[in-house]
Amino acid sequence: MPDIFKTPQDLRIYAAKLAAQNKTLGFVPTMGALHEGHLTLAQKALSQCDECIVSIFVNPKQFAPHEDFDRYPRTLEKDAELLKSIGVHAIFAPEVETMYPANFQTTVSVGEISKPLEGEFRPHFFAGVATVVARLLLLVGAQKAFFGEKDYQQLQVVKHMTSDLAIPTEIIGVPIIREDSGLALSSRNAYLSQEERAIANQLNKILISMANDIKSGLPIATIEEKAQQKLLSIGFDKVDYCTIRDAQTLVPPDKNTQHLRVLAAAWLGQTRLIDNMEG
Ligand code: AMP
Repeated sequence: MPDIFKTPQDLRIYAAKLAAQNKTLGFVPTMGALHEGHLTLAQKALSQCDECIVSIFVNPKQFAPHEDFDRYPRTLEKDAELLKSIGVHAIFAPEVETMYPANFQTTVSVGEISKPLEGEFRPHFFAGVATVVARLLLLVGAQKAFFGEKDYQQLQVVKHMTSDLAIPTEIIGVPIIREDSGLALSSRNAYLSQEERAIANQLNKILISMANDIKSGLPIATIEEKAQQKLLSIGFDKVDYCTIRDAQTLVPPDKNTQHLRVLAAAWLGQTRLIDNMEG
């Protein structure tokens, strides 16, 4: 089994051991309920570093009161088995009180990149993410940390944050892992009924058709409108956004835009799904 660390002291002892052995450490922050997407991040870390540590922490600061913090799946034993099967060395599974001790007063707030898209629909979200990721990166002290492109805007926010705060961990993005149907793996897929899953499988296909429409030269506004209507017509209950953005800044593209990203967030009942791809 990987070692399971609960406290910053445990991490310091581990870091000292690695330093004495001249070993590099790769870090994968997660909220648990692990799937093949998370495992791919850990495998990437293992391929680039001597050892890999995965954190499992359902971060209350990134959930609004009406969101799914309480029902978010928690499966530590199964997660530890999965991580063992791929050779991960250590797990950091702190309690909420360890991550946010009494009288914790700091919030990390990242600027423009965190404002559109997820920032618009989940206004509390990126401050929660940036605060926990900054604290985790500083506690773990890894040389590299691995984040999925599944949460594309989060990856950009974390890159900005680590650069702005001079946190000495290199941030590496990893492509999205999908089911055969094309559905991006997500811990939240566990919430979906069979019927909802059939609808969810279409999300990726609609993003692909948007990327194809870009290549055929259709105007951006037309592509976005068509895709939003399609999502609603196949059974999504609400579309937060389904849009084409500058891949770097996430603002609407203009004549200077070099790379595009197609991004969507849509609801099936109580479940919010996100996906994205190159445009
Ligand atoms: P989470 O546990 O959902 O907070 O995700 C932890 C990390 O795993 C984040 O960096 C996610 O972007 C990444 N991740 C989640 N799902 C996938 C996926 N399907 N493919 C690649 N990375 C993923």
